[in-house]
Amino acid sequence: MNLETLALVEIENADEIFAVYGEASGEQFLRTFEDRVRQLARPCDKIIKMQPHKLCLLLRGIHDPLQIQLAGAKLTRLFEPPISILDEEVKVTVHAAFIPPAEDCPDTTTRLRLAESSLSEARKNGEPFVIRDAAAGGTPTAVAMKRAREVEVAFEQGDFVMYFQSQVDAGSRNVVAAEGLMRWDDPENGVRPPSDFLPFVESLGLMRSLTWFALKSSVSQCAAWPEHISVAVNISPRVLLDAELVPHVQDALAIFGLAPERLTLEITEDAVIEDPDQALIMLNELRATGVKVSMDDFGIGYSSLAYFRDLPVDELKVDRSFVSNMLEHPKDRKIVKAIIDLAHNFSMRVVAEGVEDNETADALQELGADLLQGYWFSKPVAEAEFRKLL
Ligand code: C2E
Ligand code: CA
Ligand code: CA
Repeated sequence: MNLETLALVEIENADEIFAVYGEASGEQFLRTFEDRVRQLARPCDKIIKMQPHKLCLLLRGIHDPLQIQLAGAKLTRLFEPPISILDEEVKVTVHAAFIPPAEDCPDTTTRLRLAESSLSEARKNGEPFVIRDAAAGGTPTAVAMKRAREVEVAFEQGDFVMYFQSQVDAGSRNVVAAEGLMRWDDPENGVRPPSDFLPFVESLGLMRSLTWFALKSSVSQCAAWPEHISVAVNISPRVLLDAELVPHVQDALAIFGLAPERLTLEITEDAVIEDPDQALIMLNELRATGVKVSMDDFGIGYSSLAYFRDLPVDELKVDRSFVSNMLEHPKDRKIVKAIIDLAHNFSMRVVAEGVEDNETADALQELGADLLQGYWFSKPVAEAEFRKLL
């Protein structure tokens, strides 16, 4: 089966723009149109010019309805800013038709024909884009589309906030750190967890901006806490490889005057597996700034002891899935013990997360965990609440 989604993208008011602004400005305008459409494509995608104001894209590997909805949402967003022509800001109306891969419609000519008719449907109904596929027309994708748009608006309005969950010293049980966990403070539906927005954030390409926000916000709050309290920020795999991460970390520390050792960046194994060489370079650069690096969700990935040896990491976080059942399941307890011993052999600190009762906390302390985190001590709470725990 052909796993490309075919997309036709067209400007509705191109003729009008040519008539009003003339040939030369019209050409410039079409180039801007093409540039913006290109931002939807990746290097592996094909772009074919059907007509000056109509482009066809073959989006490789894009096939499920949600991905296509997100591509449509991105396209709509790309054309929200007007295009400048002769010092005037002109609003451009763009329509698109997406034809997902389907077994019963394999050849491009047939799919193009379907795309053309879907495009005129979109024009007629004034819709920014349509997806012509029986499976994609139903409610679930309409809901996903609406959600993606809501997330974008929430981000523009600054409705995301950092919550903080305490980490306590396993021996004294005093709070020594906090993990920053993002929340969507939705004026209509209340405080919403990352599972409600992170999938969309990633697909809408907002992850970097959101991470810079999480960093600044966590660092600024931590600077106001007592000096022995540090803060941890989650960094997604792609952001770890971003050249701007190190400068952003340095800026945040400098602006708020936080000592680098009070900031920990939590990364996951996928980041290292995806591109080990680059990840290693980034981790070393980060550690050169003085911040600490923690390996989150340890134990559930594809951990290989071979890469572990060279990994510049200060801390391991034992995944919650092993911790929550360790009292009932001796095998889980053995895994937790093995991870703690491994970490200590490499001079790393161990945080056990998902501690929901005192018995588990005691067992973890006995096994040698350094820090404990979980609902037993505190759920993630707003900063003002967290401060009361100190
Ligand atoms: P994570 O980094 O593994 O964060 C720990 C999650 O476990 C949090 O879920 C926390 O609320 C939850 N948790 C903590 N203690 C307990 C416990 O005792 N029992 C149970 N059942 N759960 C516990 P949350 O806040 O929903 O975050 C989910 C994930 O979203 C995080 O998993 C992290 O991967 C991601 N995330 C959250 N904030 C950010 C952020 O600012 N940036 C990035 N890149 N990812 C974030
Ligand atoms: Ca984490
Ligand atoms: Ca975790």
